[in-house]
Formats: sequence, structure tokens, C-alpha cells
Amino acid sequence: MSELSLPEFPGLADRLAAVREGVTDACRAARRDPEDVTTIVVTKFHPAALVRALAGLGVCDVGENRHQEAQEKAAELEDLGLNWHFVGQLQTKKARQAARYAHAIHSIDRARLIDALSDLERPLDAFLQVNLTDDPGRGGIAADELESLAEHALQNPSLRLRGVMAVAPLDEEPARAFERLAGYSERVRAVAPEARDISAGMTHDYAEAIAAGATHLRIGSAITGNRPEPR
Ligand SMILES: *Cc1c(COP(=O)(O)O)cnc(C)c1O
Repeated sequence: MSELSLPEFPGLADRLAAVREGVTDACRAARRDPEDVTTIVVTKFHPAALVRALAGLGVCDVGENRHQEAQEKAAELEDLGLNWHFVGQLQTKKARQAARYAHAIHSIDRARLIDALSDLERPLDAFLQVNLTDDPGRGGIAADELESLAEHALQNPSLRLRGVMAVAPLDEEPARAFERLAGYSERVRAVAPEARDISAGMTHDYAEAIAAGATHLRIGSAITGNRPEPR
């Protein structure tokens, strides 16, 4: 049935249904309420038409990691009322533009970016991206910067600090890495009690992320299929 309704994107509805079921199962196993978990479908490199098809299947939250591409798609799909989540590296000079279409920025990683996001027309959800590796070249702040960056974000009335975000390292069990992330989340809550959310979990590790308390999953290829080459 689903294939008939979306001839352009074969398998999309079935993959979405499978992931929704996987999320529900993982929530049940972790004794968590699926209502407390938001699945963001990461649509980077895919055409706007695929995002429109996802909206037709009931998706409300989509994620993008490049500003130019996100801006174009958000403009083209404005009628859908989607929540756009920016999950990639964000240049300071593009920050205000991103804040116009984005509902949330998951990749806050420096004070200058927080400062660039002040006096916005509408409040913006913000996640502090934490680096779970020892390699400073991977995105995100080191854990010892968590409290100071959280306090900095709290000083900015345009931002609603929601919590922490991370990507699991390639060379570590995701469950272990996400346990560390849960500890970082507690540290942020000690200075920002409202900032309870955890953005973690991708195609290959979302069940582990749910077990560790993730509230925002960022799932791409398990739903969209393989990504085309970047434009
Ligand atoms: C691409 C991307 C995802 C989704 O990755 P999949 O493995 O396709 O699920 C999640 N988070 C970030 C930051 C990404 O760039």
C-alpha cells in the first residue's frame, strides 16, 4: 500500500514504519514512554520532494547538517510547518540565517556561536554538542567546558537550552559512550535544571541511545535509504 502512494521513493514508508517500531520496542525494553522520544529524520543530501513525502507519512521533525541546503529546503517546504533541526557544524556568520528557519540547533559548540544567536525574532532550542572522543578534531566541546558553556547559554534569552547532543565514537561501544553522555547531561542539569534533553542515537545505535535516556534521535539512512552524493 505504502509503495503505491509514494512511487518516487520506494520503500520509504516501510523503512519509516520499521524504525518507528524499532523505537517503540527499544522504549519498551528500557521501560520508557515513547512519547518522551522525538525521532528527527535526517534528510541531508536528499531532495525536498523526499522531505515532503516524509511529511505526508506523519513526520514533523527533520534534520539537516548544511546551512545552504537546509535553508533552500525549508523555504521550499514552508507550507508543511515542519520543525527543522540543524545538526551540523554551523559557521558563526551563518548563525542568524539558520535561526530564521531552524526550530533547534543541536551543534552549539562555542561561546561565539551563542553570542551570534542573540536578539532573535523567536526563541530557538539549543543543544550543547559534546565530543565523546579524545580527538579534538571531532565536533563538540570537551566535557570540562560543559558547565561554563551551559551558563553562557543561559545568559542568552533568545536560546532555550534543551540539553546535550553527541555522536557516538566509531571505536567504542555506543552503550558505553552514551552512558558517559548521560552523566554529562546530569552535569548540565545541575546548572540548568530545564535542560533535560539528550540528542543522541543514529541509524546504527538508536536503541542504545534510548536505553541511555536519549530524548531526540537523529536517524537518517535507516529511514531515507542510502544518501545520494552531496550536491
Ligand atoms: C547524518 C547525521 C545523522 C544521521 O546519520 P544516519 O547514520 O544516516 O542515521 C545524525 N546526526 C548527525 C549529526 C548527522 O550528521
